[in-house]
Amino acid sequence: MTRWLSTIALIGLLGTLAAACGGETASPTAPQPGTVMVVATTTVFADLVRNVGGSYVTVTSLVPNGGDVHTYEPKPNDVRTIADADLLVMNGLGLDDWLLTVIGSASASGTPLIKLGVDLPGVELLPGDTPGTQNPHLWMDVSYAKLYVDRIDQALQQVDPAHASAYASQTASYENQLDALDTEIHDDMAAVPEANRRIVTYHDAFPYYAREYGLTVVGVAVEAPGQEPSAQYTAQLIQAIRDEQFPTQLVDTLGQDTGTKVVSDLYDGSLSDQVPSYVALMRWDTDKIVAALQ
Ligand SMILES: [Zn+2]
Repeated sequence: MTRWLSTIALIGLLGTLAAACGGETASPTAPQPGTVMVVATTTVFADLVRNVGGSYVTVTSLVPNGGDVHTYEPKPNDVRTIADADLLVMNGLGLDDWLLTVIGSASASGTPLIKLGVDLPGVELLPGDTPGTQNPHLWMDVSYAKLYVDRIDQALQQVDPAHASAYASQTASYENQLDALDTEIHDDMAAVPEANRRIVTYHDAFPYYAREYGLTVVGVAVEAPGQEPSAQYTAQLIQAIRDEQFPTQLVDTLGQDTGTKVVSDLYDGSLSDQVPSYVALMRWDTDKIVAALQ
């Protein structure tokens, strides 16, 4: 029992959330004449769009680098950004539903809108934090991110049929990169002894990642990102970990002690200077998790 306890990792997103409080605002990219103006909710989806669209699109993310999509409060400027869009890209499943309010204010109801995470073929959704909801973090499984990319490709081909074949070939080459990434993550995780592959996460961003790449999520530290864990919730988590036979002393000093490793700089919904692309984000997280679990 103590063997896996000594290798459990407490994974946090504290760094990302701290950055989200900086009050940085999105600076809309100046539209390039003759390009399709795409507005995405997050920098991660903006990166996927850029890879499919290449030089035929101008992409803006409403949530800036380092921002938190869950707690984002739309800015007055976002209404103007959205009003100029040819295509709107969001995840859905409760991640970024604030976009729908902004669309209402922008009277942009006629602009094509795609929800990347909704009704994807062959996807088995996992439950969200509250009953009746689904966890929205599908893109953390690379095979699901490819479905996002397919949907972006179809949407761009519809909005801009003149460049349909270019979108199709850019999609094919990007999906080759994603296949290589997926294989790499599987291989890296396979090198971690199975008994070690247990994590506690700060917020529930990793269940699809865990399911695909063979980790077990033992617990989640906060019910929703942007919150401080309540004393009651922390007590429940500690109890849950105790039930898994954590030594009391270790629980009381979670993260500070012997075997529990804290990784505080993982990414999920936002890019940064450190992880300037979706592929870089997935490599970064995998490297950190694998290193902690070895
Ligand atoms: Zn999240």
